[in-house]
Amino acid sequence: MNFLDFFREHNDKIIDLLKELVMRESPSADKAAVDALGAYIADQLKNTGAQVEVFPRREVGDIVYAAWNGSAPGKPILLMGHIDTVWPVGTLANMPLWQHGMRLYGPGSLDMKAGIALIITVIGLLRQHNQLPHRPIWALFTTDEETGSQHSRDLIEKVALNAGLVLVFEPATEGETVKTARRGMARYRVYVEGRHAHSGREPEKGVNAIHEAARQVLRIAEWDAPEQGTSVATNLISGGTAANIIAPYAEFLVDMRFTRCDEEERLAALINDLQPVHAGARLLVRRLVGRPPMERDAQMIRTFAQCADLAGSLGLPVAEELTGAGSDANFTAALGIPTLDGLGARGEGMHAENEHVIVTSLPRRAALLASILQHWQMDEKET
Ligand SMILES: [Zn+2]
Repeated sequence: MNFLDFFREHNDKIIDLLKELVMRESPSADKAAVDALGAYIADQLKNTGAQVEVFPRREVGDIVYAAWNGSAPGKPILLMGHIDTVWPVGTLANMPLWQHGMRLYGPGSLDMKAGIALIITVIGLLRQHNQLPHRPIWALFTTDEETGSQHSRDLIEKVALNAGLVLVFEPATEGETVKTARRGMARYRVYVEGRHAHSGREPEKGVNAIHEAARQVLRIAEWDAPEQGTSVATNLISGGTAANIIAPYAEFLVDMRFTRCDEEERLAALINDLQPVHAGARLLVRRLVGRPPMERDAQMIRTFAQCADLAGSLGLPVAEELTGAGSDANFTAALGIPTLDGLGARGEGMHAENEHVIVTSLPRRAALLASILQHWQMDEKET
């Protein structure tokens, strides 16, 4: 079967499902809205013959898991996507779903409802045409990627550990290639404890936490090392109680990005070692969230080479790219599971008002997924 022709012929199916998904708004923080979308997705999955399981979450939307060919031999291919978006309910009123030529606009369309539509439609069509390979295929639809995946990381790791290949359907790069490296992220909160005093009557009795924080912020800024792919920045700060009181406390958040695990360790040691400049001040450092980097290691190079072969034989672009931002692929890659990311649609405007999908990219991405499902050879070391 010529997958490209096949999916071009059936692109309306992918687009129709994508529109349905965009119409169901699903901001990470709105559990009811995300659950409504999750229930719709679970129904669509059942229509493709999947065994569906729902993993309840208290604070965020429930996670939907699907499996096909459960009894088939071999290690499963795990398809991953997040169904939450950064857009609050009601966004559609100002940022409506509309198609203009080959561009389909709408909140969450690119990041990453197009990826979800691809997974479900490709498997549904392959099965309908007796082309679904007899191998185990799993899919995991998570609900809090945009807020750091704190409520899904455990499950992602548990499921991925049993997979032989993980494909993540974040948007494709501009060149419609795959992502083989992502920077990791760590976010820290530094709480500075000072001592309050009236700034007119007895300022000498106080310890100014804002002054202390300011010194620490500048010290931390020096860890920035763009030449090695590291960036360190304080982007949020607060403190003090009133204009005439020596600030008794301050706190700020530090955002760190890095391409290698050893760099993450180096930065962690630095921030945990911070010493107050003013002897009367106290610093409390806490790591809030983080994602390990997805490194372009030997395994990643092998995994990409096989993907490139399949893309090449379809006549699709064969290239890899690295990206500064993280995704759930960072977790699975850090476990040592072969992982490729950016298998979703091409488009523009992630997290921006012009967010849109280039719908002509969908059949190409569908063909690549179908080809991987049919032809992927599990890494010898992994099986
Ligand atoms: Zn995303």
